[in-house]
Amino acid sequence: MKKKLIAGNWKMNGSLAANELLLKGLLAGIGQPPCSVAVCVPAIYLAQCQALLAGSVIELGAQDISSHESGAYTGEIAPAMLKEFGLRYVIVGHSERRQYHGETDEVVAVKAQQALGCGITPIVCVGETLKEREAGKTEEVVKRQLAAVIHANGHCISEVVVAYEPVWAIGTGLSATAEQAQQVHAVLRAQLKAASPNADRIKLLYGGSMNAANAASLLAQPDINGGLIGGASLKTQDFLTIIAAAV
Ligand code: PEP
Repeated sequence: MKKKLIAGNWKMNGSLAANELLLKGLLAGIGQPPCSVAVCVPAIYLAQCQALLAGSVIELGAQDISSHESGAYTGEIAPAMLKEFGLRYVIVGHSERRQYHGETDEVVAVKAQQALGCGITPIVCVGETLKEREAGKTEEVVKRQLAAVIHANGHCISEVVVAYEPVWAIGTGLSATAEQAQQVHAVLRAQLKAASPNADRIKLLYGGSMNAANAASLLAQPDINGGLIGGASLKTQDFLTIIAAAV
């Protein structure tokens, strides 16, 4: 049985003082966690968090990566630059990047490839909007989003982490039920199995208002191998409770 992964997505939150308080609190309470743990922090705080987490059980991640290697792309951060900060993970294709920054399935696939190319594990986000769910298109949408990454990455697909994040559940307090999440995870698992003989080892995370109260039932589902946690990852005790539930 593979270890689960609990990854925090801090989004555009934090400050030097708040980050230090949060990470020191997590490190004081985490002990030997039953799962892998990571925090995906704003890029400007990578150096600070790298120093605070050095030698600890919490791994470091970023929230985005450039689809280019280097050059005239003002404001972007190259894969090799991220690698210099000891990153283990990078989130790609979060719905907020798809929605507010126009990231297409193709761009997300290139970003995943860039991450893999420099030894960073991409956490590839897929998920349907409420409108798409109500139109009965959930399966079609997540399969299309995942297919772009599978086709671009070929045999490397077993090295990615996939996060199913229904857009309507992100930051709304309205989590998918464990049954709804498992249903989509089973679809994604089948798609991965058809693409890779090693699909069983790919971690499928659920994200979308996972919290201290609902984590255990979501994480008990057979195809849910962890969580991508937004709001609750900013609260020390809540994040520790979720981590403890990831057995
Ligand atoms: C996210 O942003 O990836 C997320 C899951 O957010 P929240 O947990 O706040 O819904």
